[in-house]
Amino acid sequence: METKGSPAVVVKKPPLTPKAIIHQKFGSKACYTVEEVQESAQNGCPGLAIQQKCPCLYRCSLQLPECSVVSGTFKKKKDAEQSAAEMALEKLGICPSTNDPSPKELCDDIIARVKYLFSNEFLSSVHPLSGHFRAALKRDGDLYGSIPASVISVCDSKLCNLCKSLNPKVESNPLLVISYIMGAAARLSGSLITSEGHLSIRRQNPFPREIIESSVIEESGSQESIWIEAIHIPSSLEEAVKPLTLCVSTTGYYLDVIAQKLGLTDANKVLVSRSIGKASSETRLYFAAPESYRLDLSPDLLNVKEFHIDGSLNARASYFCGQDVIGDAVLASIGYTWKSKDLSHEDFSLQSYYRMVIGKTPYGLYKLSRDALLASKLPSAFTTRTNWRGSYPRDMLCSLCRQHRLDDPVFSISSISIKASSEPSRSHKKLKVADSAEKETIYANGGGTATDDVDPMGSGSTFTCKLEIFSKFRGLIIECTPKNPFKTKYDSIQHASLKVLSWINSYFENPYMHFEKLNRLADAHDIRFYPQKFLSEFSLYQAVHNAEHGDTPGAQLRKSDCTNALHTMPGNGDCTFNIEGPVYDTSASIGSLFCVIYSVSLVKESENMKELLESSEEFEFEMGTEAVVPCLEAIVTQMSVGQSVCFTMDVPPRELILAAADDSTRILPLLYSKTCCLEYTVTLLQVTEPPEDRMEQAFFSPPLSKQRMEYAVQHIIECCATNLVDFGCGSGSLLDSLLDYPTALEKIVGVDISHKSLSRAAKMLHSKLSTKSDADASCAIIKSAVLYDGSITDFDSRLHGFDIGTCLEVIEHMEEDQACQFGDVVLSSFRPRILIVSTPNYEFNVILQKSNTAGQEEDPDEKTQTQCCKFRNHDHKFEWTREQFNSWASGLAERHNYSVEFSGVGGSADVEPGFASQIAVFRRGVLSEVDDLRKDTGLADHYKIIWEWNGGQ
Ligand code: SAH
Ligand code: MG
Repeated sequence: METKGSPAVVVKKPPLTPKAIIHQKFGSKACYTVEEVQESAQNGCPGLAIQQKCPCLYRCSLQLPECSVVSGTFKKKKDAEQSAAEMALEKLGICPSTNDPSPKELCDDIIARVKYLFSNEFLSSVHPLSGHFRAALKRDGDLYGSIPASVISVCDSKLCNLCKSLNPKVESNPLLVISYIMGAAARLSGSLITSEGHLSIRRQNPFPREIIESSVIEESGSQESIWIEAIHIPSSLEEAVKPLTLCVSTTGYYLDVIAQKLGLTDANKVLVSRSIGKASSETRLYFAAPESYRLDLSPDLLNVKEFHIDGSLNARASYFCGQDVIGDAVLASIGYTWKSKDLSHEDFSLQSYYRMVIGKTPYGLYKLSRDALLASKLPSAFTTRTNWRGSYPRDMLCSLCRQHRLDDPVFSISSISIKASSEPSRSHKKLKVADSAEKETIYANGGGTATDDVDPMGSGSTFTCKLEIFSKFRGLIIECTPKNPFKTKYDSIQHASLKVLSWINSYFENPYMHFEKLNRLADAHDIRFYPQKFLSEFSLYQAVHNAEHGDTPGAQLRKSDCTNALHTMPGNGDCTFNIEGPVYDTSASIGSLFCVIYSVSLVKESENMKELLESSEEFEFEMGTEAVVPCLEAIVTQMSVGQSVCFTMDVPPRELILAAADDSTRILPLLYSKTCCLEYTVTLLQVTEPPEDRMEQAFFSPPLSKQRMEYAVQHIIECCATNLVDFGCGSGSLLDSLLDYPTALEKIVGVDISHKSLSRAAKMLHSKLSTKSDADASCAIIKSAVLYDGSITDFDSRLHGFDIGTCLEVIEHMEEDQACQFGDVVLSSFRPRILIVSTPNYEFNVILQKSNTAGQEEDPDEKTQTQCCKFRNHDHKFEWTREQFNSWASGLAERHNYSVEFSGVGGSADVEPGFASQIAVFRRGVLSEVDDLRKDTGLADHYKIIWEWNGGQ
């Protein structure tokens, strides 16, 4: 399209490139794919033995919600992209000129476009609308050649965009577009005919015979029928959504078939919604134009009146398309496309319908992305990118906003650099985050660690992210301003997104929640919202939710009855687990990845009925983030690898079951009977330790954890210790390994605050101690072993004056002040003869993290900033440099009359940056006596015995 002679305007704006215009209009919805086209040189020179190396050519395809195009081939990728963008603009009728057309010009354009659509040449083109024109020529009698105006209003994006420019309200009022089109047709009364009371248009003069023959002949042969599954959505919420079948014959018009299902004689009174679901889908809602609907056929397009139709709103249908749908509706995936002249169609099952229902909620988006509707749950926390499964929070939030026709969320990043200066310097950057490739260049350095505290290194910078959600018409509706800083922008964005998702999710799970409660939850999520605006954006959901929960009005997502499920566990609560496979040792289950096989069935025990709903051969989830239904998480932590378990749960909301079941007819009778439940069968396949261990294992041989343990054993042997306490023993890996060495140990004790870890430790020690034969001289003969539940910052006199205390990789899991407190308590009150403390050397992370990402994408932002390393584990509250560790330990030793020596494992003391794990060995001063604290401090015993072994008796 050539620009008309532009007026002598003063300011000359640089013209926007086609790509920039596409970006303005579609943002992240525009998807460019560039492919290499290898053109072989053989054509030109067939005799050449060696194939000549040809310059690579590129072709770009561009997908937009309304159309897709493929460019020609170019030498440069960017030319291919610009060309595709230009083609799309042309197709959509978006004029790349910068001066906006006047309303008068727009009206003229609308009329010209309508005229073109009814032209001879349009009939033979491939266009979503030309198929309707051809089909209309197969309609009988009065209907011959007449096109429902509603179809024109939704199938021609060029016309849509023109109307949108004329009046933005067409977005939410589909009748308005029809009015414009009918108006334009009335202006063309010489060549087009509109009929009063009917929303259809046809040509005054029929198409010439030869045109008809050349474009409509193909199908004239045999009469075939196709059956298409569709969905009937009654306007009354009392009535269930049901599947229906459309039978379309190749000689008929599919819209007339849909009209009949709606109780109408023909398609001329049918209204068609915008397409819903995927960008390229032809899934639409069809419903009857209300009787009262009389069009203002004023040919004066500038004075078209707005209609507000009355009738009973179909809440479910309206909720889907974001337009007012009146009366019963049919949901079907059928229509003509840009791709071919054939009718394209897909079955739309009840399952697809329910997937769409839940796909409009945060929990549903997550479940669908995991393909685990009955097993997964929207996680409560984003830990690391490597451990996250399913769609990322930011992406889910973007998709939720689009689903609800809100603007894309806006993220504003602030970076706080905490250099030596006391005044933090802040810089702000506002970014509209899009799904395009650009985001990667901005956020590629994600995947890092979250700390709950400001960067303890006092170096580098941290980021906070403010998130705002705007409604198209109502302005700002939600604002989330988390205070916690994160080490990467990526993390701060994901965390803020998850906060908003979680909060919106609590509303979706319980839309009847008391306002006070919603408000409190918002506070807890650092969210401010505008209640009226928020509720009106999601108002229809209440109705839909209510309908989907059917027979038990007001029933919410019920908290599954976990205690009930636990009772069905074999051997719960003691150490008599039936371990069928090797016991996997995880030092901390939080952050571990658990991999299971599972299946979920709907069962009715009384009638011995069972229908499989969902299953997976390999399902992985991160422990401790509530990424799966609570029961599953609770039970799996108590299992060993190889073990299987079966438990039952209450039935969740019906929509979830129906979204999971691919055969609803078999499920429904079961589902409606009150006494059915869900049965889960789960086998634990694998537990992968948190990334810290993985990283260390990859880098050191033997693994760093083994080296730490051997380091401790060496000291135990050297000092002939007969008793040992392991502070923060976790799942007992040290205690377990110790037993394999010839030490003088007789009593071993472990203390930890994690129940899960302690129960693992108990299980393992139990099996190991009871199978150890006393005759085995190569290892220790343990007389007693105890596990205590307690915090190592508290004193317990039963552990006073031990020969040796170990505290391996624990202090960094506590806040710094707690770590200091532990230091003072252990040296002043517990007073072991020797204390070994290990913790990561932060300076070593550069090496670990470099080796870990080798071969992966290079990270231009981070590779040079050595001081800006991630922590090794997301649960670490701090990680110290050698200097920080030394000053902590030296001060401590001095205050309590201990000597201290520094050492470590992994790497070397003499080679920068020192050991990977730094170790301090404290020895009690020779002059200090150990007083017997046993009698007088018994009251201060804070620890609780979790498990005890007295093998010596
Ligand atoms: N020492 C073990 C576990 C290290 S993981 C090993 O080397 O494998 C850190 C452990 O410290 C976790 O099990 C955690 O529960 C524990 N921990 C953290 N804070 C604690 C506290 N205040 N008291 C006792 N244990 C604590
Ligand atoms: Mg650790």
